[in-house]
Amino acid sequence: MNLVSDNIAPAHQAVLGALARANSGPARPYGHDEVNARVESMLSEVFEREVAAFLVTTGTAANALSLAQMTPPWGAVIGHEEAHVMHDECGAPEFFTNGAKVVGAPGLDGKLTPESLGSLLGRDFWTPPTHVAPKALTLSQATEAGTVYRAGEVAALAEIAREKGLRVHMDGARFANAVASSGRTPAELTWKAGVEALSFGFTKNGAMAAEAIVLFAPDLVENLAERRKRGGHTWSKGRFVAAQIEALLEGGLWLDLARRANASAAKLALGLEARGLKLAFPVEANEVFVWLPRPLHEALQAQGAAYYVWTSRSVAPARAGRDGETMARLIASFATEDREIDAFISAVGAAPGRTKKASRSPGTPLF
Ligand SMILES: *Cc1c(COP(=O)(O)O)cnc(C)c1O
Repeated sequence: MNLVSDNIAPAHQAVLGALARANSGPARPYGHDEVNARVESMLSEVFEREVAAFLVTTGTAANALSLAQMTPPWGAVIGHEEAHVMHDECGAPEFFTNGAKVVGAPGLDGKLTPESLGSLLGRDFWTPPTHVAPKALTLSQATEAGTVYRAGEVAALAEIAREKGLRVHMDGARFANAVASSGRTPAELTWKAGVEALSFGFTKNGAMAAEAIVLFAPDLVENLAERRKRGGHTWSKGRFVAAQIEALLEGGLWLDLARRANASAAKLALGLEARGLKLAFPVEANEVFVWLPRPLHEALQAQGAAYYVWTSRSVAPARAGRDGETMARLIASFATEDREIDAFISAVGAAPGRTKKASRSPGTPLF
């Protein structure tokens, strides 16, 4: 019962197979190989338009390099106050932008809203040269709360950003999960809604280490090759990064794997609700945030269940926990097995004082 994260999963067999195939002879270095060229054209197909792609091996690099293309050092990057770029990248966005300020805005369920973004940008303290100038908006898709921005929500936020002269970035460490759950196309969730650069994550969805910076705005391409090299993220044997992504894009495997992870999370959420537990956020991708009474949390830990204890200011009042309850973050990956989910739900049901309630029918569309 290991639900700590989706990066605890192994690499998918197809990825390992692709690495072995990429290993069968020489290839041109630094990304000038055939696999990289194929991946760029596959990404153009996925997004239904020509895109530029720069491959890296961590999501932190993808985010920080993208944002550095969008803002001068005296700029501000606006994101949700609980975003990965704010808290989980050890200042990499600030470092790669040569010191731009990352500024958080609040919003329920891990999402920025037109109101929260508009009121932050509308404040009168953005006066040059005493204050930084907002230059980029970053949206996490899926969010750190496991929710998914609708295409219309992305478009509304991107429009506010555009009016104020900000560029628009999407942190898609879990973009696959967002696409799979939304029923919208990758194009609809990105450039058609005003996104100009996407950190397209593959590591959490079956790769060993591979992420793509996908650029929809041609002017953002300039000098990214130099910035990536200078940042130590240009692999001389770049074919091995590209091969992982090719394996996942081939035949839509990336979406199949994301659907599997999302289905495991949905099954887990239904089982927990059926046992009377309250979810802290709507379950829309592959993450479940659930309130656990302390004795239940202790019983689960004693049985070896592994998950993070979480805190958030983003929980809607109706989904707030009771005194003494702990929020647990449970993440399913493509490799999570049904028996792990069943074991977790049974462990919850078997804990002292738990009763079973009527459940929603499985398969209820998430939205
Ligand atoms: C995992 C994750 C990343 C990337 O993290 P790395 O550890 O640098 O690969 C970026 N954004 C979000 C929202 C994530 O969950």
